Amino acid sequence: MFSYRHAFHAGNHADVLKHTALIATLKHLTQKEAGLTLIDTHAGAGLYRLDSDFTETAGEAREGIFKLMASLRPPGKTPEPKPAKPGGKGPETAAASEAPALKDYLDLIASLNPDGRLKVYPGSPFVMHSLLRTEARDKLKLFEMHPTDSKVLAANVAQLKAGRQIAVARQDGFEGLKAVLPPPNRRALVLIDPSYELKTDYAQVSACIQDCLKRFATGTYMVWYPVIPRPEAHDLPRRLKTLATQAGKPWLHATLAIGSDEATAPALAVPGERRRPGLRASGMFVINPPHTLKAALQPALATMLQVLGRGPGKGTTLEAGG
Ligand code: SAM
Repeated sequence: MFSYRHAFHAGNHADVLKHTALIATLKHLTQKEAGLTLIDTHAGAGLYRLDSDFTETAGEAREGIFKLMASLRPPGKTPEPKPAKPGGKGPETAAASEAPALKDYLDLIASLNPDGRLKVYPGSPFVMHSLLRTEARDKLKLFEMHPTDSKVLAANVAQLKAGRQIAVARQDGFEGLKAVLPPPNRRALVLIDPSYELKTDYAQVSACIQDCLKRFATGTYMVWYPVIPRPEAHDLPRRLKTLATQAGKPWLHATLAIGSDEATAPALAVPGERRRPGLRASGMFVINPPHTLKAALQPALATMLQVLGRGPGKGTTLEAGG
């Protein structure tokens, strides 16, 4: 337990999918004046250095946010490159303006890196904070159990000077969530983003969603999961679909697979060392999604695939029901 540190993965393709979907959902929910309660059950450290040892070691951000920024917002070109002629191929044909949800995501990253060099990446707490409204009295509740990351998170959040608008708890997010649902303002967005370090996380996510739908059926629930060859991972979206359908609630399911990089993998830094394949695909399952989310994600996924897709197995899916 607790060998997972999100800093190794910050800004990878999975974060691109997760955070783009999160922003698109929040942008819709904050259009209504009434206050919102945002809950992040597995918050991580909140903010990551992209030039630290962690990210350098894994280099996952290079196959994610770095690639996306370089293709869609190269330095010196403002505000973003023009789309190429129809039929053109390659990343240079992608344009963030054709995918407003992706543009919103890239704008947020750019705002945190004002000198144009990518040094800082926001985790979900900072993504959520960027859309938090003081006047509506929105609240953000963060759970993180890792002894070090919970301290780093608390320190990062303290810099925001958000006072009681943001609460950080070093507590099990699955348990902590029970105590905060239903929220007093009766509007909530819950992000459930475990590390799936433990096989039991998959069952815990299903049990948690089942419980949430009983406690507060109208909340918006966003679950991230890895698409890996493991029965529990394969079953999770199916279980979530069943739970949403049984509760009579709409759902949306999006996946992004960047495919294998074996053909294009760079030479190994350490000769003879086996290169870890890394995560190649992940999904977001949303219960009670905004009615605008599917249309927002469609072009965003297409652009993500165009820029980040790298080999066999790449693709996206987007399905909604209920
Ligand atoms: N949501 C973050 C983001 O998008 O930036 C990333 C979170 S990371 C995938 C999962 C985090 O959950 C890790 O920091 C891990 O320490 C933490 N964690 C693991 N089990 C937990 C639990 N039961 N409750 C709260 N946090 C937990």
